[in-house]
Amino acid sequence: MILIALGANIPSPRFGPPARTLEAALSALEGAGVTVAACSRFYESAPVPPSEHPWFVNCVAAVDTGLRPEALLDALLSIERQFGCRRAGRNAPRILDLDILAYDDVTTGENARLQLPHPRMHERAFVLLPLAEIAPEWCHPGNGEPLAGLIAALPGDQKAWPCTS
Ligand code: ADP
Ligand code: MG
Repeated sequence: MILIALGANIPSPRFGPPARTLEAALSALEGAGVTVAACSRFYESAPVPPSEHPWFVNCVAAVDTGLRPEALLDALLSIERQFGCRRAGRNAPRILDLDILAYDDVTTGENARLQLPHPRMHERAFVLLPLAEIAPEWCHPGNGEPLAGLIAALPGDQKAWPCTS
């Protein structure tokens, strides 16, 4: 299973508020040879680590693609650039963030340009909760831990829940 996390916490000049940006990004994936097989609801989540930055809108998609992992990363980075993203450092506010959470059972070294599974996914409620909607039986390819166990181990202070509007 190939899993992508989408997130946004500042408006995009072309698409407007973060939820519209995510909808446009899902369409852009289709245009880049990446078919969205399933997508979670949209979640709103407080920045991790906590900060004064705006809250995020997030979702997780299961995709089908003929692109190999590195080519998929390049496609995601290209979409981020098309949406006006500039690299402003980890945890900075962003118009769009596209991460590969996992690519089947592929695992990579810590220093690879593309790290799989995504090295911080297991500590993020805004990733694990939407993922549970589309792949409740998923297990972490690195350590075999079931998703339910990862969710149970989350720190209790992360704010992430489905958008109400
Ligand atoms: P994060 O999404 O964890 O907050 P960034 O989006 O700022 O971090 O980091 C982006 C960089 O991380 C990308 O340029 C890419 O080269 C690298 N990277 C490594 N592994 C992944 C992955 N699994 N998915 C997306 N980007 C990754
Ligand atoms: Mg990213």
